[in-house]
Amino acid sequence: AIEISGLNKWYGAHHVLRDISLNVAETEIMVVCGPSGSGKSTLIRCLNHLEEYQEGHISVFGNALQRDSQSERFIHQTMGMVFQNFNLFPHLSVLQNCTLGLTWLRKKSEREARDIAMSLLDRVGIADLAHRFPGQISGGQQQRVAISRSLAMDPKIMLFDEPTSALDPEMVKEVLDVMVNLAKTGMTMVCVTHEMQFARQVADRVVFMQDGEIVEVGPPEQVLLNPQWDRTREFLDHIL
Ligand code: ATP
Ligand code: MG
Repeated sequence: AIEISGLNKWYGAHHVLRDISLNVAETEIMVVCGPSGSGKSTLIRCLNHLEEYQEGHISVFGNALQRDSQSERFIHQTMGMVFQNFNLFPHLSVLQNCTLGLTWLRKKSEREARDIAMSLLDRVGIADLAHRFPGQISGGQQQRVAISRSLAMDPKIMLFDEPTSALDPEMVKEVLDVMVNLAKTGMTMVCVTHEMQFARQVADRVVFMQDGEIVEVGPPEQVLLNPQWDRTREFLDHIL
């Protein structure tokens, strides 16, 4: 689904992505982990053009990503993204957050948008909160709205950047459960997360990054239980 080759990115003199090459297969669940500052967010933000990069190629379903409006449109139609801090519109209700893209970008009727949004909210267990505002629901619920909003656009690939790290511990599971269920539907997912239980449960492969490089990639049992690099081992000892 995604092919990344020779990706390099600098912030000024700071080399933040070093020769990243990685393919993500259709329906694959890829977990990306590594220490703070290792380039995880930068990498997944390059995939949907939230970041520029200086060298390398990324293609998505065989389409080379370019800086033109056709490519941008393709990315937005193909990939959804969920962030650490939910990024909901505070002045819109839960339902309106989910219907906005459908009516504005996809030109759906209000009624059709509402039906799609309600079925997604129902799927993540919060249909009863449709008329609340983001400030009136918990962090875990907000993140489930953010996931529904993204899914409403019918993406083929979902990118997650530490979707549970801003949540109180008791809310982590409700969001991970939604992600596990999504993984089972055959969605292609790239998830930056340190939830190793999630990685063990659903990841096809785990990528470990350090200083802008991929230092380890493989099935979870290999990377998590038998890491080849001392640094991976150190990092895992730290978070597990
Ligand atoms: P974390 O686990 O803390 O989220 P990360 O692995 O996601 O870390 P990135 O956010 O991708 O790391 O950052 C990679 C490096 O790029 C870091 O050294 C960071 O300081 C630097 N960086 C990120 N964004 C910018 C920016 N806009 N300008 C300059 N440097 C940046
Ligand atoms: Mg990050």
